[in-house]
Amino acid sequence: MARRKIIAGNWKMNKTPSEAKELVELLKPLVNNPDVDVVYCVPAVDITTVVEAVKGTNVAVGAENISDQDKGAYTGEISGDMLVDAGVKYVIIGHSERRGYYSEDDAFLNRKVKKAFEKGLTPILCCGESLEQRETGVTMDWIRLQIKSDLQGVTAEQAKTMVIAYEPIWAIGTGKTATADQAEEVCKGIRDTIAEIYDTDTAEKIRIQYGGSMNAGNCKELLAKPDIDGGLIGGASLKADFGQIVNYNK
Ligand code: PGA
Repeated sequence: MARRKIIAGNWKMNKTPSEAKELVELLKPLVNNPDVDVVYCVPAVDITTVVEAVKGTNVAVGAENISDQDKGAYTGEISGDMLVDAGVKYVIIGHSERRGYYSEDDAFLNRKVKKAFEKGLTPILCCGESLEQRETGVTMDWIRLQIKSDLQGVTAEQAKTMVIAYEPIWAIGTGKTATADQAEEVCKGIRDTIAEIYDTDTAEKIRIQYGGSMNAGNCKELLAKPDIDGGLIGGASLKADFGQIVNYNK
C-alpha cells in the first residue's frame, strides 16, 4: 500500500497568536488536498488559537517541542498532557536548531520520543548532517547513529506510525536545497536503517519527509521520489506557497 504523503509546516519562532490566526485564514482555501495529510507545527503560545482556527478543516496541529517529563517543577517546559489537552496531534523532536542552539542530545531526544508516544502524540523526529559531515562522506553513518539512538526502546508498532524528517543542516533556511537525488539517497538510507532496527514491514510503513528550503518550485521533484513521503517546511510554510506544496500533485 502506498504511503500517504504528509506535508508539515514548521513555523519556528514566527507568528504571534493574532498573526497565526491570519495565516490560518490565508491558507484555508489553499491547503485542501484529500490525498495529503497537512500539519501546522506552531509555537506553543499559538496552539490554542490555531487549533480553534483549523476546526472543520483537514489540518492537524503539531507542537515544536515537548518535555521529557510528565509534570511538576520544570519551569518553562510544556508537557505531553498539556499538548494533547490543547488539541495537538504531532510534535517535532530533535530539530537541528534544538540540537544545536539548546544542546539537545540523542539520549534526551530519545526520552522525548518515548514520552510523545506514551501520551499518544505522533513524533516528527528530525535528523540531518552538517556541511562538513557531507563533505567528509560521513552523512549516512551519522544519520544512522542519530536514528538508532533516538529510537532506543521504541517498538515496531510505534515506529510504524511516526514520521522522520531528513533535514540536511546546510539546506535549512539557506535557499540551498538538496537535489532530489541527494535527498532520496538519504531517505532510502533511513528506510534501510529502520528495516535493520525493526523489519521491512515497519520500514514500508514509516513516513520519511525531506526538509530544507523546500518550496513551491522544487517540491514536485522531491516528492516524486519513492522514499520521500512528504516535507517539513520552514520559510515557505509562512506564506501562500505552502498551498502549492500541499497541492504538489495537481
Ligand atoms: P526551511 O526550514 O524550509 O526554512 O529551510 C525547514 C526546517 O527547518 O524545518
